[in-house]
Amino acid sequence: MAKKTRLDKFAIAAVLQEIAALLELKGGKDRFKARAYQTGARVVAGMSEDIGEVVLENRLTSMRGIGGALASQIEQLYLTGESSVLRGLRKEFPPGIIELSGVPGLSISKIKTLHDALGVTSIAELKAAAEAGKIKGIKGFGAKTEAKLIETIAGHHQRAKTAERLHLHRALQAATQIINYLQTARDTGDIAVAGSLRRWKETVGTVRLVGKTKQPTTLVEHFLRFPLIVEVIEQMEEACTVRLAEGARVSLVAARPAEFALALLTETGSKAHVNKLQQIANGAGPPVKARKKVRKQSARSSARSSELLDEADIYEQLGMPFIPPELREDQGEIEAAFAGKLPLDLVTLEDIRGMVHCHTTYSDGKHSIEEMARAAEAMGMKYLTITDHSPTASYAGGVTLDRLKRQWAEIDEVQEKVGVKILRGTESDIVADGRLDYPDAILEQFDVIVASIHSRYKMDSAKMTKRIVTAMRQPVFKIWGHALGRLIQRRPPFDCDVEQILDVIAESRAAIEINGDPWRLDMEPRWVREARKRKIKFVISVDAHSTGALNNLKYGVAMARRGWLRESEVLNTLATKAFQKAVKPA
Ligand SMILES: [Zn+2]
Ligand SMILES: [Zn+2]
Repeated sequence: MAKKTRLDKFAIAAVLQEIAALLELKGGKDRFKARAYQTGARVVAGMSEDIGEVVLENRLTSMRGIGGALASQIEQLYLTGESSVLRGLRKEFPPGIIELSGVPGLSISKIKTLHDALGVTSIAELKAAAEAGKIKGIKGFGAKTEAKLIETIAGHHQRAKTAERLHLHRALQAATQIINYLQTARDTGDIAVAGSLRRWKETVGTVRLVGKTKQPTTLVEHFLRFPLIVEVIEQMEEACTVRLAEGARVSLVAARPAEFALALLTETGSKAHVNKLQQIANGAGPPVKARKKVRKQSARSSARSSELLDEADIYEQLGMPFIPPELREDQGEIEAAFAGKLPLDLVTLEDIRGMVHCHTTYSDGKHSIEEMARAAEAMGMKYLTITDHSPTASYAGGVTLDRLKRQWAEIDEVQEKVGVKILRGTESDIVADGRLDYPDAILEQFDVIVASIHSRYKMDSAKMTKRIVTAMRQPVFKIWGHALGRLIQRRPPFDCDVEQILDVIAESRAAIEINGDPWRLDMEPRWVREARKRKIKFVISVDAHSTGALNNLKYGVAMARRGWLRESEVLNTLATKAFQKAVKPA
């Protein structure tokens, strides 16, 4: 038997994605099946193991999100290169149906008619046919419909360019997947993330990538063969923008090594930041004297000034130190760089020594105290704070007094077995009148208190401000948890006078949390900077409800950096004893 080239994981994922799209078109209860195939495609494309091994060892169904039916299709695809389900579905629809069904007003039966009469299988062919006046003659279509179609297609193209923004978490997944794929191309050097994803914005419009290569056109061609692409929005010789099946917009700029640094800087943005750099390069910068001074401080050799090796070289040529991507918003960072006032010791992931704000099975967490402790220890942490919900949060299994005693006993037992220090904490509700949830005598026995709002979000601004101010003035030391209660793309921050609250915190026994849960990312960078002015301290937390969510730390650190936070302003960069002392409630 001749040896066939096996499909790789991306090709298999592409087929699963196509099946999902066709099932979605069928509608009704097939929509549920569609979702299963979509999940399957994501799992397969994201697999770190060799898919062949997983198939041959019959381990597909042990992967999360893959059931028996799905597994048999994946197996078929791997072994034969074909899928019986896809074959069946393709018979039901004309070719090009997935792309064409994206044009508003074009029903499946109309697409069938267009295919039978003109052989149309893509939006581009449809556009050409309409512009050539071939559609108005078909039964059921008139001159009006034809004109309308031309207009709709133009609008569709525009919408594809400006479609909704992706959540940071999904943008990161999409970027990782494509980078993995691109690195299989020959002669590819670095593939770097740029755009708002590199600046860690909460949502991302286009996932921007910059590739370093000696052959830009080859890299772009390779990119365009990525199987999950459903539409090419824009294409040039050395750059292009596409849409993926799940809706993400992705652009790639392929740059030769000598142009890579500048391309990366430009693609990273923000526009305002890059424009200001451009003005400075054009001679509209600060007085030459200031520039010379900065240049003298720099240890870099000026001999390679004609060759821009990395972004730091570009900043150096402009007479300033490197500005980290998280700060590139034209919010004073360029001026600070010239004045030598840029925080050069922004907090980093490596600075964090303790996991703050962890839930366990005592409230609404998935894992036990021991599982959380071992996971934190494996990540190199010196301590973690167990902060389950307080009694008022009964919907989240708030911990009553007698169960709290049991939890403390269990913490003592687990502590015997692990090296990481487990701190007794609570995420205490701030109740409607601003008090905390346990009696003072209990509050004083905790090692750490996170104080959060979980109910009555819709109070008017004055009442909400008073509620939080009252909480922050409580005599025990507390950390204000997920401060303004926002959920990205789901719920706006609640109304209150933030500056007044910050003034109170500055003179109270309190700190503020930067919550790393990717849906919260609270508080926002602009408020972090306001708080910094008042010398308020922070913790960077994970708000983890499972061991996996300890990886939220990177999001928290990114938000802190966007708020210009330095290592010394973040309490959980401290060693265990110093941290305990800093957050001790009483
Ligand atoms: Zn909470
Ligand atoms: Zn929480």
